[in-house]
Amino acid sequence: MILVVGGAGYIGSHVVKKLLDNGKNVVVLDNLTTGHRKSIDARADFLEGDIGSKKSLDELFLKYDIESVMHFAASSLVGESVKNPAKYYENNVSNTLTLLTKMMEYNVKNFIFSSTAATYGLTEDELITEETTLNPINPYGRSKLMIEQIVQDFHVAYQLNYVILRYFNAAGADPSGIIGENHDPETHLIPLVLKNLLGERESITIFGEDYDTFDGTCIRDYIHVNDLAEAHILSLEALLANRFKSKVYNLGNGNGYSVKEIVDMCERVSSRKANVLIGDRRSGDPSKLVADATIIKKELNWKPVFNLEKIIEHAWNYHSQNQEMIKQ
Ligand code: UDP
Repeated sequence: MILVVGGAGYIGSHVVKKLLDNGKNVVVLDNLTTGHRKSIDARADFLEGDIGSKKSLDELFLKYDIESVMHFAASSLVGESVKNPAKYYENNVSNTLTLLTKMMEYNVKNFIFSSTAATYGLTEDELITEETTLNPINPYGRSKLMIEQIVQDFHVAYQLNYVILRYFNAAGADPSGIIGENHDPETHLIPLVLKNLLGERESITIFGEDYDTFDGTCIRDYIHVNDLAEAHILSLEALLANRFKSKVYNLGNGNGYSVKEIVDMCERVSSRKANVLIGDRRSGDPSKLVADATIIKKELNWKPVFNLEKIIEHAWNYHSQNQEMIKQ
């Protein structure tokens, strides 16, 4: 049995679906503060609860024969983390420590952890490798780096086996249109542009066009959520097959797109015109984050299959099909 904490959230729900499609048994723990009950695949078992709750964790570890844990339950907004760091250190660091401690108590030793490119922060490197200096510039990135360090210490002291996956910008949706990106409030670029194109928001504001990039807007590496999900499956398989006991991998496409290029692609895919405003920079944003994901491609034969156009096509498909549900 695989325990997926945060399995009702955006990335977690896509991984849960893929695990089940691969014939795995899954139990989801989620407190539904940001996730959605209806995003959890009906084939999975579900417990509503918090990863910081020792009681919920005891209940799960006693009831199920859990071999591995995948951890998606985190607060993940850069801007919010600057304004409210206490929430990030509590939800991300403290609650994950509780989860890991319970795992050790019940002798559950396999862990797949969702980390982030925000752990790198500012860098001169053209492409970010796993060796790039970790220098996070916001509390979100720092909270994730702290967990990485805790996980590595647990590996040395308690033989916790782990794969840390540093995501770049997760985007897109399952092609079925049943699950996709639906945050409340929404702060991410692609869904916000699509909401504007669907007439649900008056405009989309570009946060700064005075960055040191070719068109002045921030550059990010957008990776399809199902490509991310596939990397989790491969990572867990490798861990359980004893191919290694600890790994850190970047997950990105290796192509950077500016905010303006994203808006253009959304317009092209939807054949509609966005109402674009230019605003101030958002605090905590590095100008450019693009992955070098060579190592996971080489070691696990991971191949991201969706390009930016497909990512936005699937996101558009999800948003236009579920307009009522995700309207804010
Ligand atoms: N962004 C923007 N307007 C928005 C939301 C985001 O210009 O309304 C920019 C943001 O500054 C960043 C990029 O889009 O450069 C991606 O932001 P997002 O919040 O989607 O993901 P993040 O990079 O913070 O994980």
